[in-house]
Amino acid sequence: MDLKELVQMSNRYGANPEYVLAGGGNTSVKEGETLYVKCSGTQLGNITEQGFVAMDRKMLGSLMEKEYPSGDQAREAAFLADVMEARTDADKTKRPSVEALLHNLFPQKYVLHIHPAMINGLTCSVGGQEKAAALLGEEVLWIPICRPGYTLGKLCWDAMKAYREKTGKEIQVVLLQNHGIFVAGDTVEEIDCLFAGVWNTLEKAVERRPDLSPCEETAKAVETARLLAEKTGKTVGFVDAREGMRFTEAWGAWAPLEKPFTPDHIVYCGPFPLVLKRSEDVKEELEAFTGRTGLVPKVVLVEGTGAFVMGENKGDCGKAEMLLRDAMKVAVYAENFGGPLSMTEDLTEFIIHWEAESYRKKQ
Ligand SMILES: [Zn+2]
Repeated sequence: MDLKELVQMSNRYGANPEYVLAGGGNTSVKEGETLYVKCSGTQLGNITEQGFVAMDRKMLGSLMEKEYPSGDQAREAAFLADVMEARTDADKTKRPSVEALLHNLFPQKYVLHIHPAMINGLTCSVGGQEKAAALLGEEVLWIPICRPGYTLGKLCWDAMKAYREKTGKEIQVVLLQNHGIFVAGDTVEEIDCLFAGVWNTLEKAVERRPDLSPCEETAKAVETARLLAEKTGKTVGFVDAREGMRFTEAWGAWAPLEKPFTPDHIVYCGPFPLVLKRSEDVKEELEAFTGRTGLVPKVVLVEGTGAFVMGENKGDCGKAEMLLRDAMKVAVYAENFGGPLSMTEDLTEFIIHWEAESYRKKQ
């Protein structure tokens, strides 16, 4: 059964932390007029057949021809409502990702979409598009940075159509700038082969690799974590990784981490870290940060001391640490591909508001 094969493929990619973190990424399979796509709130690593939601392919396809309002909020709300309307699943509590539409754009049977740090080293690098073309050739389509939801769908639709007209073929590998990769194939083996092709090529091109091996937790780091917790009333954790020490060894060494690389980093680490010269100043600096940005930081970088995560509880800190480690990896991998390139300010603002909006809806 196709869905069974999809589950196996999802579990296999999801079990590898080099490919998938927590609930990141999604997969799908098409059976006739139905698209089965991963529900939000599930994880590829342990997803079962129940973790997929059935959707009407024709209805999803028609959304690209539809006229939507030009205002961001009105457009995205109307688009999301239409995506939800395309569900044919009996269980209406299942929610597809807004990326479901992108899965449907591929005519191939199976689709894998993930955000691996090494691949994002390329998608989040200066001149990434040229580098991708040089390394991976013309069989890989590059989608420039843009707003998620309808805008991204439309951009992919147009680019895939142009590729089809130019080459007479369907694209199978798509790189999304500051986001991740899509791989499509009529069989799982085909996806494995295409993905391995991209992966092995990048592996060979990488000279400097991130070093996230444990570093010594200095007395200074222990004392700093204690002080940050005491002064803010939050749960604080030290990020025990050599790369974390390198990014904080001098003022500004954290430059690549000062802005987000992908939407995932905004969601779990917050868009910007709090940077400190002296941990004693955390209370004043925290207030200034919130005054300036309207946000509470989840990452604190202390000059000469290390990287810390801050949250309401251990769970928050764990997620922030996982994605901060990922951001460090992306930053280091990007050095191999022309240097790190963060998300644009415009898109960062858009995601911050989009997240705040979906958070409010969940409450
Ligand atoms: Zn994605």
